[in-house]
This record gives sequence, C-alpha cells and structure tokens, in this order.
Amino acid sequence: MQKLVCPTPPKQGINMIQNPELYLIIAGGKIRCRRCKAQSSRTKLQCAKPALKGKVVCQFHGGLSTGPKTKEGKGRIRAAHLKHGEETLEAKAERSEKSAMFRYLTDLGNHCNMFYKKLKTRGRPPSGYTQLDLTDPEQLALAILKTLPNK
Ligand SMILES: [Zn+2]
Repeated sequence: MQKLVCPTPPKQGINMIQNPELYLIIAGGKIRCRRCKAQSSRTKLQCAKPALKGKVVCQFHGGLSTGPKTKEGKGRIRAAHLKHGEETLEAKAERSEKSAMFRYLTDLGNHCNMFYKKLKTRGRPPSGYTQLDLTDPEQLALAILKTLPNK
C-alpha cells in the first residue's frame, strides 16, 4: 500500500491575515480597540475578538504567550528573524576591529609620509583605537602589531 504524503507540511501556529482590519468598535460605539489579526483556518476570515492590551492578537490566538524562555528557544527566534546578519553583534565587532586596524594603518602611513598629503580621518575614532605617539619606537611597534590580523 502506498503511503500518503502531505505535499506541504501543515503550518505551525496561527495564520496571520494579510491586510487586517485594524480597529474594532465595541460597546455600542463607545470603545474603539485594536482587532485581533489572526485568520480563522475554517472560515478564512479575520478573528472578530479585540486584541489584548499592547498586543495584536486575542488570548485565543497567542496573546497570552510571553515568548520563549529557554536559551535554545530564544536562539530559534533570533535565527528566524535574522535576514542578512549585517547588524549582528559579531558583525559589528568585526567591523569595529577592521576600522581600528585601518585607522592604525592610516596613522603609520601619515607618520612615514607615505601619502601625497596627510590623510585626515573623519568621524569618531573606532572603539578599539587609542592615539599612539609614533615617534616612540615602542609605541610604533605596538601600532604595527595592531595592523596585523588576529588569525
Ligand atoms: Zn483572535
């Protein structure tokens, strides 16, 4: 006997309606509140209950959920929301490290008169950068060491 295979796995959680009606007027027109934006899986209509305070869904569609508590659950949510990784902490730290390295290289080039005229750097100095006195040989060596990649 052939086993029946579902072509698409069933969706987890609730369906969110694409263009939800945002507000609901209840109590005979006295209260205007946010409407739950969940979509009924049976009727394909928007849920008719008001959303909970500060939430977009009612208590039956996940409004009472307080989110993931465990470390792996939080990691799963973080991975689901990650789009390009340009602003992750690791990417920011690497960018800061590279710009500090570039700043030391610029200082060394200016010190050796390597450029036609002194290069001016703009903006605040990177977080890993400290101004070194390059006439002191010890600090010059330190600046050269800081231009080397860590690996
Ligand atoms: Zn609802």
